[in-house]
Amino acid sequence: MEIITTPEAVKKRCKELKKQGKTIALVPTMGYLHAGHLSLIKKARELADIVVVSRFVNPTQFAPNEDLDAYPNDPNHDRTVTEKAGTDILFEPPAGAMYHKDHATWVEVPSLAQGLCGVTRPTHFRGVCTVVTKLFNLIHPDFACFGEKDYQQLTIIRRMVRDLNVDVEIIGCPLIREEDGLAMSSRNAYLTKEERALVPHIRKGLLALQEKAKQGEYSAKNLQDFFARYIKENIPMARIDYCNMVDKDSLEPLETLKDKAVVAAAVYVGKARLLDNILITK
Ligand code: AMP
Repeated sequence: MEIITTPEAVKKRCKELKKQGKTIALVPTMGYLHAGHLSLIKKARELADIVVVSRFVNPTQFAPNEDLDAYPNDPNHDRTVTEKAGTDILFEPPAGAMYHKDHATWVEVPSLAQGLCGVTRPTHFRGVCTVVTKLFNLIHPDFACFGEKDYQQLTIIRRMVRDLNVDVEIIGCPLIREEDGLAMSSRNAYLTKEERALVPHIRKGLLALQEKAKQGEYSAKNLQDFFARYIKENIPMARIDYCNMVDKDSLEPLETLKDKAVVAAAVYVGKARLLDNILITK
């Protein structure tokens, strides 16, 4: 596995590989890799000749009060597992290398970025779209893999690529869970033992909500209230950021379940903010 640390070098190397006729699949990550990330690398491995994994904690997607400095980091572990998973190039630029001091250009998809996570993280997706665009311009991947765990992010990236005619195929990959149902996330490392024991109830609450919908409860408000009660009973220290029923493509809030919808939730537990989502049908 090659480790490349500068934007210039990764651009040069990927250009050479493309000249040789190789296809490239990119997996953008912020490191502290777990089985969710590895499933994306596995998918990338199936798709293309060359797998590039980026490992970069992107400062522009964090607000000043968020966990940029505390974000978990284990470079040696990440190098070992990416190599083992069949990565050809690990791109890990140092913090300052990706942005000029006077960086002034942003890529935004405001209509999809306002709701859900965008309410408490209003500049987050602008940072994500900008860094992903930069990675696309450096690497020119044929494919880029993103997890359905970050459902809003995946939807926004798809729209950005469509609207800007970016020449890349976005591959959505299933959400990988711990055995007890907790969505895998680098931020699970923030949980205390006591919190960790309770957080699988986020998934259980969404499954119970799905069951309610199947039984004929189609009102978003009632389903959200049901989830809120479930979380209050089962994870007393939790605070719900949001639990919303939205259209699976436009992310528009839905008042009533028509056919299918995504219910996405973000829940604060201790120092962690945990995301999960579920597809519900009538
Ligand atoms: P992150 O390092 O958290 O920015 O995530 C990098 C990529 O891995 C994103 O496309 C995430 O959606 C994806 N990812 C993170 N956790 C999971 C998971 N549990 N299952 C599937 N994909 C995931």
